[in-house]
Amino acid sequence: MKRRIILLGPPGSGKGTIAARLQQEFGLDHVSSGHLLRREVENGSAIGQRSKLFLEKGELVPDRTVLKLMGEWMKSVPLEDGFMLDGFPRTLSQARALDEWLAARNAPMEAVILYNCDLAIVLDRITGRWSCPKCGRVYHIYSVPPEVAGSCDDCSVELTQRADDSEPVVRKRFEIYTRQTRPLAKYYRQQGKLTVVEAALSPEERFARTVAALN
Ligand code: AMP
Repeated sequence: MKRRIILLGPPGSGKGTIAARLQQEFGLDHVSSGHLLRREVENGSAIGQRSKLFLEKGELVPDRTVLKLMGEWMKSVPLEDGFMLDGFPRTLSQARALDEWLAARNAPMEAVILYNCDLAIVLDRITGRWSCPKCGRVYHIYSVPPEVAGSCDDCSVELTQRADDSEPVVRKRFEIYTRQTRPLAKYYRQQGKLTVVEAALSPEERFARTVAALN
């Protein structure tokens, strides 16, 4: 099974949910750059202070800041164990930097799954999305409800809705995705690593197609 993978897709394409399942079933480490950035903001670190406004507005945090954060993360993990990147890379220069880091450690990225999703589906999904402020686990009122309404299954902490999940901010994030991140599909297709999964499929079908692409 391919173990160093990237999950690409607009906000609300369901990649976080797939990642949580892959983590549970195959023990792959789920690394969400958005989650790491939100943690930096909460801790008030230098990276957090530089990122806060971008996160609130739904804009991309500048490459330099994101690369510093993700470069540190990458130095701290054993790449042989595998990982799923969710939300990173988001620009071509991030993708190139990632390839360079991995090449230097002789552990190239093995597969990239793109969850293809249109704006209508994204808006529908995101308005029902709640997450755990402690562990970052994501729920959806209809498709992935917690066992006890409003409470995280793992931490029993009260679920919250992200400030950047409001409709106008989601529209903007989608537009930025289309302009800056969607072009990464071509980059990874040229490397022969890309698989496209339609995000309109059922969660079961999306998971099955993801696993098939990794095997
Ligand atoms: P996400 O949780 O992946 O939707 O990310 C939430 C927010 O974090 C985004 O809207 C961006 O402001 C920021 N962010 C996360 N990952 C990146 C990245 N790779 N490059 C730039 N900004 C990012």
